Amino acid sequence: VIGYYNGQYVNPAEAVIAIEERGHEFGDGIYEVIRVYGGHPFLLNWHIERLLNSLEAIRIASPYDAAGYEGLIQEVLDKSGEQEASIYLQITRGSAVRNHLFPEQDTLPNVSIVVRPVAQKGEQTPGKLLMQPDERWANVYIKTLNLLPNIVAKQTAHDAGADEALLVRDGLMIESASSNLWFVRNGELITAPTDRYILPGITRRYVLELARGLGIPVREEKLPKEQLSSVDAIFITGTLAEIFAIDTVLSHPNIPISASLPDFAPHPVTVTPDTCKTEW
Ligand code: PLP
Repeated sequence: VIGYYNGQYVNPAEAVIAIEERGHEFGDGIYEVIRVYGGHPFLLNWHIERLLNSLEAIRIASPYDAAGYEGLIQEVLDKSGEQEASIYLQITRGSAVRNHLFPEQDTLPNVSIVVRPVAQKGEQTPGKLLMQPDERWANVYIKTLNLLPNIVAKQTAHDAGADEALLVRDGLMIESASSNLWFVRNGELITAPTDRYILPGITRRYVLELARGLGIPVREEKLPKEQLSSVDAIFITGTLAEIFAIDTVLSHPNIPISASLPDFAPHPVTVTPDTCKTEW
């Protein structure tokens, strides 16, 4: 594991952040997580594109251009010597006397990076989702540090014996706490469109491209939660989760609303009378 903070290599477990750091005090910053396969950062240009969009959305002047990020990431990765790894890159609005207003322009963004080895995934058994209300804000497309609703949703899912959350907003199935959500129905792939209420996942974008290349029909649409019983298969995608099959969706909390979707084989979801009765 290697850490980097504003030009210095550091131990990520040791203190380097000022108390009056805006990421620390306000969550005033953004981040990216990039997977490294065989020593190469995967889909790095897409991650950098999203990073620049996130910075622009919260009005932080980017300390680097795209080529600058590429060089910096490669430098830290080379220093780590890791081949199979995750790269966490965070940029905050800097350190300043605590004030909601943005600090004066001479406050520089703080740049943190952690490179951590990750184990390659072997064969996985399908997982479970816990359906929950999406309590996040209205600008989920920004990859901000403010993840409190996400971490509580994921912990709630974990406590109920599930692997991830299935977040529902206005009756529609949106995404998971740290992954995008996909359905297969009648040979078609279905995932939510990239509006302000989902994080435009890099893995999502890659799967869309693969599907189009393979001629698999794709529909970008949010399904009402009542249509869960009509899908043939479910999976989630994310940089570290990769593509993860789901065979069970639990309702909130601990009550099974639908059982077994074995692998990707077309299979009707069985639904109990309580399915999707919740108001959200
Ligand atoms: N949705 C949310 C809320 C996320 O936090 C993430 C990643 O952390 C994703 C989806 C998946 O995005 P990506 O494929 O870029 O990792």
